[in-house]
Amino acid sequence: MRTSPKKKEGKIKQQTKGLVIVITGNGKGKTTSAFGQALRAIGQGYKVLVVQFMKGRKYGEFKAAKQYLPNLTIRLYGLDSFVMRDNPAAVDIELAQKGLAYAKKAINSGRYDMIILDEINVALDFKLLNLQEVIEVIKNKPAGLDLILTGRYAPPPIIKLADTVSEIKEVKHHYAAGIKDRAGIEY
Ligand code: ATP
Ligand code: MG
Repeated sequence: MRTSPKKKEGKIKQQTKGLVIVITGNGKGKTTSAFGQALRAIGQGYKVLVVQFMKGRKYGEFKAAKQYLPNLTIRLYGLDSFVMRDNPAAVDIELAQKGLAYAKKAINSGRYDMIILDEINVALDFKLLNLQEVIEVIKNKPAGLDLILTGRYAPPPIIKLADTVSEIKEVKHHYAAGIKDRAGIEY
């Protein structure tokens, strides 16, 4: 499970209860917050996997991981286009379900100390994934694994299961002033 050469640290990690952390809300900063948590874990010698639902684009984090962070693995399970909430395409559903199947295997593989399910809350809200299935994944996760779920509209049963829930509230966003998506800020 541990990747650090310091065996003592490994023991500490395995004995520690892994946390379920939810980052939700309508303000900017959910995904970037989860990656901040990943960076902190990686700095301590841990291995992190990020499964990105409904995303097909290689964001800055993907490029950074590839170039600088061997202990950060990112897998994309989506297309680089909007999913229609009330009428998702078959391919959107298929990719999200493949993402969950991949995440389940990874969760039980013992290869990672922290797993981030980015935008899974949105995938649940859009009914691309089955809520009960995700609840079971959370309930049955290995004890020491830290699991982070991001995205707007976190379903109440997921909030109930979590140890920590943060809601990022929009106070203002530059988008309203007509400032478009920018490399390094949005992607
Ligand atoms: P980030 O990836 O920057 O941390 P996020 O994960 O909180 O943002 P999402 O809900 O995943 O935000 O939305 C993805 C994109 O939408 C981001 O590029 C972000 O800048 C933008 N965005 C987030 N919140 C708002 C908002 N309140 N108004 C307009 N655009 C937003
Ligand atoms: Mg996000």
